[in-house]
Amino acid sequence: MYDVAEVRKDFPILGREVYGKPLVYLDNAATVQKPRQVVEAMSEEYYNVNANVHRGVHFLSQQATELHEAARETVRRFLNARSTAEIVFTRGTTESINLVAACFGEAFMREGDEVIVSEMEHHANIVSWQLLQARKGIRLRVIPVDDRGQLRMDEYERLFNERTRIVSVTHVSNVLGTVNPVRRIVDVAHAHGVPVLIDGAQSTPHFAVDVQSLGCDFFAFSGHKVYGPTGIGVLYGKEEWLDRLPPYMGGGEMIGHVSFEHTTFADLPLKFEAGTPDYVASTGLARALDYVSGLGMDAIQAHERDLTRYALDRLREIPGMRILGEADDHDAVVSFLVGNIHHLDMGTLLDRLGIAVRTGHHCAEPLMRRFGVEGTVRASFALYNTRAEIDALADGIVRVSRMF
Ligand code: PMP
Repeated sequence: MYDVAEVRKDFPILGREVYGKPLVYLDNAATVQKPRQVVEAMSEEYYNVNANVHRGVHFLSQQATELHEAARETVRRFLNARSTAEIVFTRGTTESINLVAACFGEAFMREGDEVIVSEMEHHANIVSWQLLQARKGIRLRVIPVDDRGQLRMDEYERLFNERTRIVSVTHVSNVLGTVNPVRRIVDVAHAHGVPVLIDGAQSTPHFAVDVQSLGCDFFAFSGHKVYGPTGIGVLYGKEEWLDRLPPYMGGGEMIGHVSFEHTTFADLPLKFEAGTPDYVASTGLARALDYVSGLGMDAIQAHERDLTRYALDRLREIPGMRILGEADDHDAVVSFLVGNIHHLDMGTLLDRLGIAVRTGHHCAEPLMRRFGVEGTVRASFALYNTRAEIDALADGIVRVSRMF
């Protein structure tokens, strides 16, 4: 039995009030709240272990290094990667995608070569490729989205040609909640000999991910969206790909030997980790992944899917409601607009009722354009949300609607 009341006790912030109202936090797709266990593991490291990693012979440095490398093993297990050589620590999804665009682009793309992205991508997975477009003259090809918010898989297959070099798509839309058929996307790409990068920012918090069964070549996610700290994320890459990419940044830790004539680089994964890593955040991330694994990703998914279905049912009852994203496979994100009420007005007034939602374009302007809107209100759910909070949201929306 999933005991959400018990789970909530691990998140002190959920007990606070805003404007004298109990906080209803439904902005989880932007970032989630942190369990005590994560914060305590990080404090403990700062208080008792802190020392720079990888370089020191002294006791603390070795202990900090062990914690950092144990965290890498925890990430490996979480993703079911083959080896820790395939786990690169970055600052987050954004940096992971930029790393692939820059390094893969450098090694394997020339003017006129193409990357396939989709119309539902976060700006991180659009602009990174546009920077490469400006540098090298590559082209972006875009998988369209249908009216229900699903990728047009027939169109996807038609985008391939002899210039296609890589596919880069999101696992779950941060706006529509659509879960994309990643395994099929990978199979089609591989049939054309093309590797695939998956943006896992919105999947890793919600259900079990197995990079080997997905078959993807690269996978990116952010620590702060999966109950870990800010400032750390992960790039998974198949060893045979990471080995063939040039380094991303130069500096300490990523080298073998340095001279002014010739420098060699460290083995994987350190080749991609220039400078002092956030070794305390890696501990926090590992603790967060242990936390969700302890609850069970399947149990978390069942709980959140129940909340999502309940939210969709409750919201659909509201007059003037327009929900964006009606995919069959719908994860814990619901975007909507009500009548002519501006998303910003709705968000601001819900906030006064203690309900935190996100408003705006959600870093997905092309998708907004696709649906002919400027922005939406977005409620997104986490493992600690409750049906009572969905009721508060639905009642709040009705109250705000009556004011207009
Ligand atoms: N991709 C998706 C699908 C996202 O939802 C987000 C965060 N909103 C990102 C990428 C970027 O993540 P970060 O800001 O943590 O790098």
